[in-house]
Amino acid sequence: MSTSNLNQQFLIEAKAFLLDMDGTFFLGDILLPGALELVKLFNQRGLPFSFLSNNTSRSKLDYIQKLKDLGVKEEDARVYTAGDATIAYLKKHHSGSKVFLLGTPSLAESFRAAGISLSDNHPDLVVIGYDTSLTYARLSVFCSFVRQGLPYIATHPDVNCPMPGGPVPDIGAIMSLVEASTGRKADVVIGKPNPGIVYALAEEWGLEPKEMVMVGDRLYTDIALGETSGVRTVLVLSGETRREDLANAKNQPDLVCENLTDLTWDIIN
Ligand SMILES: [Mg+2]
Repeated sequence: MSTSNLNQQFLIEAKAFLLDMDGTFFLGDILLPGALELVKLFNQRGLPFSFLSNNTSRSKLDYIQKLKDLGVKEEDARVYTAGDATIAYLKKHHSGSKVFLLGTPSLAESFRAAGISLSDNHPDLVVIGYDTSLTYARLSVFCSFVRQGLPYIATHPDVNCPMPGGPVPDIGAIMSLVEASTGRKADVVIGKPNPGIVYALAEEWGLEPKEMVMVGDRLYTDIALGETSGVRTVLVLSGETRREDLANAKNQPDLVCENLTDLTWDIIN
């Protein structure tokens, strides 16, 4: 049973769902309870849905393969990353601009495939992603362009990336280094909890954010999207957040569920 002091009518009226992956749909290599049943329900009701990830170091194809390995059908393994949202943002707001990209080869490939010109020498703006191939030389060039005042865009804000052996520095930690060197923070940050990733999908589906529901396990990224973008939010307790964390949390979900089995039950009933 879920617990909420708010009206759950929004679940019945929802026109699309956004699903976090790690801690919500799977944990490590294990599918979480109710995951496949929820996807089946979305399909039965003709509800569009997408998996969301802030991680821009892995390619979308890696996530799609992982979902397929866990039993999700290919046509259901729709993954939208902060990299995809950044591409949509660039095409809308900086069409034709040349980009200096601090990112992995797979992120660079997705930019090129989308028709975005990359330039190491004469860029119009700079973009930073989670770059596990980062070198000091490339970081120095990036800082020099930031110091020159070029528009500075980040794919997402995460400070650390969770790994089996403990957290490793993610993009946010590198952005702190860039700020210490140049005195500038990114002008725009796209991924969760910033609304860009929601706006990009809302536009693709022709919906308003308030007609969409975000399901996730993290208060400060997934659930914070409610406040920043206007989506309704469901917190699942299958990942990072414990029920006791909610008492003093700044970002409160519209509904709390133990897991996706609980959520599926709430949508049906
Ligand atoms: Mg998560």
